[in-house]
Amino acid sequence: MRVLITGGAGFIGSHLAERHLAMGDEVTALDNLSTGSITNVQHLEANPRFHMVIDDVLNAEVMRGLIEGCDLIYHLAAAVGVDFIIDNPLASLKTNIQGTEIVLELANEKKRKVVVASTSEVYGKKNGHVPFAESSDRILGPTTVIRWNYSTSKAVDELFALAYWREKRLPCVIVRPFNVIGPRQTGHYGMVVPRFVKQALLGHPITVYGDGEQRRCWTYIDDALDGLVALSSSERAVGEIFNLGSHFEMSIKELAHKIKDLTHSQSEVHFIPYEQAWPKGTYEDLVYRAPNLEKIRRTVGYDPKVDLDEALKRIIAHFER
Ligand code: UDP
Repeated sequence: MRVLITGGAGFIGSHLAERHLAMGDEVTALDNLSTGSITNVQHLEANPRFHMVIDDVLNAEVMRGLIEGCDLIYHLAAAVGVDFIIDNPLASLKTNIQGTEIVLELANEKKRKVVVASTSEVYGKKNGHVPFAESSDRILGPTTVIRWNYSTSKAVDELFALAYWREKRLPCVIVRPFNVIGPRQTGHYGMVVPRFVKQALLGHPITVYGDGEQRRCWTYIDDALDGLVALSSSERAVGEIFNLGSHFEMSIKELAHKIKDLTHSQSEVHFIPYEQAWPKGTYEDLVYRAPNLEKIRRTVGYDPKVDLDEALKRIIAHFER
């Protein structure tokens, strides 16, 4: 099979490329290297079944050729990371909305199956500790808070994909990942785990925002890949939306201390008020985010196996190398 991965030099994209190469597939990775990095795929370049294209999803000419030459598309190219979105609101909207529109339009011309990477961020915020199901309401803050730019742009992507499926019968699968972590993820654009690991290894203060009581569920990359690959080949998944996550849950404060312990670090855990971490009015945190995994389990037998301890050990080992 010929697989096209947009955002193929990113954290998830590069691992996905590796997985499909290991399955014997031909892989083309497209990336504009805005948040992805060529070092993520350097080890794949000797493989004759791997092709790297440095370009942008907004370049319809290039995308047309690439889509024509593939059987399956994973559309992962997007502006990601809370820091990146807040620093680049306009580029984020363009990449996430226009980029997806281009991919879906061209995929529809050739009727190529598309796995669209959305985000658990589409659910927005919610009080109470209730896991999000795919049918849950979305609860978002005002448009003036830049954080919601990401959630809204990805929701528009989902609407486009659903409309293409309903009106044009373009086979699409929509996936909402929950805090995926693993080697090669950078903390540069906000993600908390690589930031804390780096801070701990360097002996710098570990920067917990707010009171650290906010909770997340972390999904190790290998489990996320199992889910993505299974969904991409499932007939029953077409036209549907899936949470992709885990039940390995922890508060950010506990996470800071766990990483400090696992790295034997002397770092202090610092609590940073939100007003100090972010320009006023740009950011709003989510108190709790967890997935209901019933649907993906029922549809493709997804069962995440790598718990947070094991995931952190592997990530720390990667950073130490
Ligand atoms: N966070 C933190 N310190 C950091 C970076 C993030 O305390 O240096 C917190 C952030 O406020 C959020 C959680 O960690 O509550 C997860 O943040 P991330 O950006 O990784 O993902 P998301 O907010 O999308 O779940």
